Amino acid sequence: KDRAVQVVFHALTDTGAVDPQVLFVGGCVRNTLLGLPPGDMDLATVHKPEAVTRRLEAQGVRVIPTGIDHGTVTAVVDGKPFEITTLRRDVETDGRRAVVAFTDDWREDAARRDFTINTLLADADGNIYDPTGKGLSDLETHRIVFVGDASQRVAEDHLRILRFFRFYALYGAGTSPDAAALAACRGGTDKIGTLSRERITQEMVRILMVDHPAGILGLMFENGVMRDFVHPEYQALRLNALAKLQNMYAAPDLAARMAVAANAQPNWVDQFDKYIVFSNALRGDLILILKVLAAAANMKAHEVIYRFGNRAALQAHLVHHAMAGTEPAASDVDVLKNWRAPTLPITGDDVMKAGVERGPDVGRILKTIEEWWIAEDFRPNESACRARVKDEAAKL
Ligand code: ATP
Ligand code: MG
Repeated sequence: KDRAVQVVFHALTDTGAVDPQVLFVGGCVRNTLLGLPPGDMDLATVHKPEAVTRRLEAQGVRVIPTGIDHGTVTAVVDGKPFEITTLRRDVETDGRRAVVAFTDDWREDAARRDFTINTLLADADGNIYDPTGKGLSDLETHRIVFVGDASQRVAEDHLRILRFFRFYALYGAGTSPDAAALAACRGGTDKIGTLSRERITQEMVRILMVDHPAGILGLMFENGVMRDFVHPEYQALRLNALAKLQNMYAAPDLAARMAVAANAQPNWVDQFDKYIVFSNALRGDLILILKVLAAAANMKAHEVIYRFGNRAALQAHLVHHAMAGTEPAASDVDVLKNWRAPTLPITGDDVMKAGVERGPDVGRILKTIEEWWIAEDFRPNESACRARVKDEAAKL
């Protein structure tokens, strides 16, 4: 019924054609059947990328060649992006990325996809197509099963190991992992390091963001996958801490989770670098939490908030408790969330008005007053601070 969907399907479908020419595929079909938000809209089509672009542009649709070498373009209709990929089959694989050729056979396209639940197709009216004949039943029984021979599929692209654990964590609830899949993952684990860090990051971040990352990381480590992601010596400890942490937050907090995985050690961030390409924001968040943890042991909550901000102060507090195996007090959490740090009541101008000449002494005195004001629990008001400035100026 969605207008944008109608536009795309209309542009890519010749009237009177017998076979479908464009269908939804992958996560959006799977999630919709599970009653979950669809996520990104992936479409598969028999048309080649140039034809897809031409047909859509003829309807006034903006088309961006997002992945033209592997046959993907992105159409934007009513502000909604649709990733449209031409049907493909694998022709050659090197374990890092599959080399593909176009096809017009839906079964061939399904055969190069990773898991049966990811091969399901749907048309604009919601009719479902199950080209492997197994996708629907595996989805119903929460079974994450490779399409075809598990070991071969892993050997073709080792990223599928991480994808297996991600999909098992997300959609495998209540089942034990497929034995063939697990064996294949175990067998290919030493090749993960040959994948690009960008690809590993995409999957690892999503694994860390699942509701219960401790469980899935535990299963991965037991099977030798990404063993050195968390310091081996502290692995059991840190998985317990992750399990604790995830109960303290309503929504997953990636930086806090990574701080636990890093055992609160700044130098472990370098170890993550082996696998993870950090965004500046994530690296900044993580480093700040570790900094607060190192600095905050002897500080009152108010001081931590003043120096590092509410967000980092709360993250560090929860990480600290998760790692210590203790419960944060609700009253502390309330303060860390809601107390707004005041600003120092005086500025450099006040110091100069007290007769100090412009120069390094101004900043030094201001710093002294600030430290005193913090130690006094932010209580001294403007006149008290000014009086203190006079005392300091007199010492010069
Ligand atoms: P979500 O987007 O919700 O994480 P998804 O299933 O859509 O899940 P994507 O990574 O967006 O996952 O990939 C889209 C589809 O492309 C998948 O459903 C799968 O059919 C196929 N696919 C993606 N990556 C691979 C891969 N490494 N090997 C085989 N097939 C893959
Ligand atoms: Mg997707």
